[in-house]
Amino acid sequence: MTTIQAAALRVKWKQQVDPPPCEHLNLELELSDSSSTGNYNCIVCGECVVHKPQ
Ligand SMILES: [Zn+2]
Repeated sequence: MTTIQAAALRVKWKQQVDPPPCEHLNLELELSDSSSTGNYNCIVCGECVVHKPQ
C-alpha cells in the first residue's frame, strides 16, 4: 500500500469509538511513488510496523 493509503487507514481506525487492539498480523510493504520505503504497514489499522531482519 502507499503511504497515503496507510495514513487514511490510520485515520479510519482511530475514528472508531473504541478501537480494538490490533496485532498487526497482515502486513504490506509500504510504497512511496512506486518504490519501497522499507517499512511495512498493517492492512487492518494502517500502523507502520518496522520490519526487523533476523
Ligand atoms: Zn494493525
